[in-house]
Amino acid sequence: MKRLFILFSLLVSVVIFGGYLTVNYVIQPGDTLYDIAKKFKISASTILDWNNLSNPLKLKTGQQITIPQPEGYIYAVKQGDNLYTIARMFFTTVSDIMLANELSSDFIKPGQKLFIPRKSIGKAFNTEKGYIWPVYGVISSPYGWRVHPVNRQMSFHSGIDIAAPEGTPIFSSTSGIVSFAGEKSGYGLMVEVKSNNNVIRYGHLSKITVYVGQNVERGTLIGRVGSTGVSTGPHLHFEVLVKNETVNPLALLPSSNKVYVLKEGIEAAGGE
Ligand SMILES: [Zn+2]
Repeated sequence: MKRLFILFSLLVSVVIFGGYLTVNYVIQPGDTLYDIAKKFKISASTILDWNNLSNPLKLKTGQQITIPQPEGYIYAVKQGDNLYTIARMFFTTVSDIMLANELSSDFIKPGQKLFIPRKSIGKAFNTEKGYIWPVYGVISSPYGWRVHPVNRQMSFHSGIDIAAPEGTPIFSSTSGIVSFAGEKSGYGLMVEVKSNNNVIRYGHLSKITVYVGQNVERGTLIGRVGSTGVSTGPHLHFEVLVKNETVNPLALLPSSNKVYVLKEGIEAAGGE
C-alpha cells in the first residue's frame, strides 16, 4: 500500500490502495452527513459503513472520516469464503470483484480485505417483484406460529428470519424513508423504513448504515447482519407491515429459490 498525502485542500489527505483510494475528511462546523455525501457524490450509507459515527445527525467538528473513491464497501475475507460466496453476498459477479481488487487469480485468504465497488452491486438483484431480497441467505424461520427458538414457548413470528454470516450486507428491499434506526428491545439494532402504506423492519443488525429521515432506494446498504437482541445466531429478521398489520413477507418477495439472479448477458457467478 502506498501512502500519499495529496493536499488538494487543507481538509483532506488521500491514501491510495490497489483499486481504490480513501479520502480522509475533517468534519467542519455546520457539516451534515447529507452535505458531505452530496459533496463526494456518494450515499450517506457508504460513509456510515466506513465510519463509526455515534450520532449521524450531529457530527463532531474536527473528527476525521474516511470516504472511499470510487464509492464501495470493504469485505474482510473469512475462513471458508471464496469469491463466489462473496459475489453472491453483494449481488455482484466474481469478475467485478477480481477487477476492482486487481486479482489475477481467484485465490483469497482469511483477513484479506476486498473492495466491492458500489456500481457493481445489484447486478444480481431479482427485481421481478416490487421488493428485492435484502440479503443472500437461507430462510431459517418462517412467518407465523412457531415454538420460539429462545424461550421455547409457542409464539407468533412477525417476520421471516434469513440466516447469513455476520457482516453480510443488508440492502433495502424497497425505497422509502428511514423512520427508526437504533436499538429496539428484542430486535436489537433495528432499522425501520416507511414505504407508502408499508413499514419494513430489519432486525438483529451488527451495524446500522442509515439515519432517521434518510431517503433510501431499493438496494441502498442499510446495515450488516448480526445477532443483536434476542437471537440464537447471525440472521436478519425481516418484517413487513401493511396498514399496521404484519403480513408474510414471502408474498412480496421474489421466489426464494431465485434470491440471486443475473440478467442474461452478464457472466454467471458460478454454482452453489
Ligand atoms: Zn425473526
